[in-house]
Amino acid sequence: MNDSSSSQIVLLVDRQTQTEALLAPLMAAEKVRLLRAESGEEALELLLMHDVALALVDTEQPAMDGFEITRWIRENSRTRHIPVIMLANGAWDEAAIETAYDAGAIDYLGKPPGSNVLSGKIAVLLELDRNRRKLKEAVAHIDSTKAYYESMLNAAGDGVIGMDRAGRVRFANPAARAMLGAERDQIVGVDFMSFYPTPACSSACWEESPFFHSLRQGVESTLDEASLMRCDGSRFRVSLHISPLSGHADGLVLVFQDITGRKALEDQLRRQAVTDSLTGLHNRSGFKAAFRTALERARRARKSVALMFIDLDHFKRINDTLGHGAGDHLLAATAQRLRECVRSYDIVSRIGGDEFSVVLDELDHGASAAHVASKILTALRQPFRLEDGMQVAISASIGIATFPECAEDVDLLMQAAGVAMYQAKSDGRNLYHFYMPEMNAKARQRLMLEQALRLAVKDDEFSLHYQPQVDIASGNVVGYEALLRWQHEQIGRVAPSTFVPMLEETGLIIPMGQWVFSTGCRQRHAWDSVLPEQCVLSVNLSPRQFVDKKLVSQIQQVLETNELPAYQLEIELTESMLMSNTEHTREVLRSLKRLGLKLSVDDFGTGYSSLAYLKQFSLDALKIDKQFIDHLTTSKKDEAIARSIIQLGHNLGMQVIAEGVETGEQVEALQELGCDVVQGFYFGRPVPAGEVVGLPHAMAVNER
Ligand code: C2E
Ligand code: CA
Ligand code: CA
Repeated sequence: MNDSSSSQIVLLVDRQTQTEALLAPLMAAEKVRLLRAESGEEALELLLMHDVALALVDTEQPAMDGFEITRWIRENSRTRHIPVIMLANGAWDEAAIETAYDAGAIDYLGKPPGSNVLSGKIAVLLELDRNRRKLKEAVAHIDSTKAYYESMLNAAGDGVIGMDRAGRVRFANPAARAMLGAERDQIVGVDFMSFYPTPACSSACWEESPFFHSLRQGVESTLDEASLMRCDGSRFRVSLHISPLSGHADGLVLVFQDITGRKALEDQLRRQAVTDSLTGLHNRSGFKAAFRTALERARRARKSVALMFIDLDHFKRINDTLGHGAGDHLLAATAQRLRECVRSYDIVSRIGGDEFSVVLDELDHGASAAHVASKILTALRQPFRLEDGMQVAISASIGIATFPECAEDVDLLMQAAGVAMYQAKSDGRNLYHFYMPEMNAKARQRLMLEQALRLAVKDDEFSLHYQPQVDIASGNVVGYEALLRWQHEQIGRVAPSTFVPMLEETGLIIPMGQWVFSTGCRQRHAWDSVLPEQCVLSVNLSPRQFVDKKLVSQIQQVLETNELPAYQLEIELTESMLMSNTEHTREVLRSLKRLGLKLSVDDFGTGYSSLAYLKQFSLDALKIDKQFIDHLTTSKKDEAIARSIIQLGHNLGMQVIAEGVETGEQVEALQELGCDVVQGFYFGRPVPAGEVVGLPHAMAVNER
């Protein structure tokens, strides 16, 4: 009905048909539909049903007269706009005209109206109606478009602000107002620069602002990271797009998003990528970046930088025995102590499991690096208290490389510090070591050896040699000490003093020690018919084997497998094992004793000074270390030591064995001191199993 393209309707309210007949050709010419009502009611019905463009109303109607109909049309909001021309038979008197106008008619005609007059009037009124309809449609269209855009702007999560050429805000959508914390009247009409803080100037800088620039150049631009200021003065980060407008809406549109959350997330991710979550220190990549920057700074300022590699000693053992929780706790506590040992601008990082690094910035001389290193060693040596109240002690080994002396770039300095750290470890741990160029060769060699050793364990490059132990009174061979030998295809023979510590460090000593036991026992059993029954096999035990929980059961197993009586097996312990007076130590020693093994103390006199353990455990023999035998005949002091050890052993009911006996004079002296058993090159070097059978089972102890 509202469609302007549908044909217009003229309503004729007239009981007679002459007027209709008169109008018909006119209506056809104007493409107008003519509806005729014969009564007031019918007229009202049609008026409500159709969008009528013009009503022609005859004054004479049956129930409701023409004036009343006209008045009704005028008073009803839906029909008020419809122009009404009243028709009457005969001429119109003044009173009737007045009544017609009063009722709301716009014109009056006598019946039958002259066709020229009528057609002219109708054409004008229809034209008016058409224009009215177009206008109505246009307004409706504008309204809906406006509503559409408004609801879009209102719903938009982005802030949208329109401003004029002078930078005054003309429009701000709800999102913009919410972000800026502004009511409509706090923003509309306000200078936008008061929301846009610039470092140097406040609101006076419109002409230097990116907005003005965009406007003048007529180009769009984007500010990825800008700041806006809320009404309360607080600031927030936005990404901001500026588009100049042209034509009527001369000015700018800004569309912006609050990126505070995104920025925070980005910052967090960036931090996480360079931070170790356990300790809060730099991680490896954070360390490298910070170290690189420190080196650049030092290069420009012509200063030194020291890099320290700090590796905790035996950390793995703590992790394995006390659990990862305790390990983590210890690492975090270590980080804390490291930080306390250096200045706030020195760079402390955790670059691996139990590896830390410290970069000492703007160093004056190497001596202060040494000072810091020893401070760190002291700090780390203080016992740590774990969460359950238990205390643990650790130590660390530190390698130090300095810039520019050792190397000039990050990687080479890291390598150098690593090599120096390795040296500190092999020098006995709990030490720091400065990098020296010759270390590289040593470290490489060691690395090669370690690799070769791993292969050797797999490829059976090991063998046992046996060295006789002789009873000093009778000259009888009373035992053989099994000594491990490694013959490498290319490297040749490697000394046990070199590879045994490596087996220890790598943990390979556990399978190797097991091999020594079973090979030695099998051999001793094979010699059953050749050697006297009381002749024992002595096997060296390493500290790592000693703490192995399976030790006792494995020895028992080996004895059973080889049908070896336990009294034919002797185990050589070191003082350090006996010193660690733990429940485990006591239990292992008791069990070994219960099996019926002999226990001796190797290298006696070189280790700890406490002798308390001698009375705690039931031990069978003491072995005087070679270093006291070497100068036995020339040094009164060494002689006194040897004498004391022999007396001590005898007083405690133990046998005493002298090691490294090389000369007849030494034998003689030991005989005089009352030593029980001697072992050394004088009686025989360690030999392969095959040569043992050919050896005499009794020796001439004293040739004189
Ligand atoms: P150790 O237990 O004190 O072994 C005695 C060392 O002294 C042996 O050196 C032996 O060859 C050497 N020796 C014996 N008599 C003389 C002498 O008259 N003069 C000189 N100069 N040396 C003599 P070796 O075989 O080089 O072993 C060195 C160390 O390696 C051993 O010291 C022991 O601690 C360790 N070791 C050897 N075999 C094993 C093994 O199977 N297991 C363990 N855990 N350690 C072993
Ligand atoms: Ca030994
Ligand atoms: Ca020894």
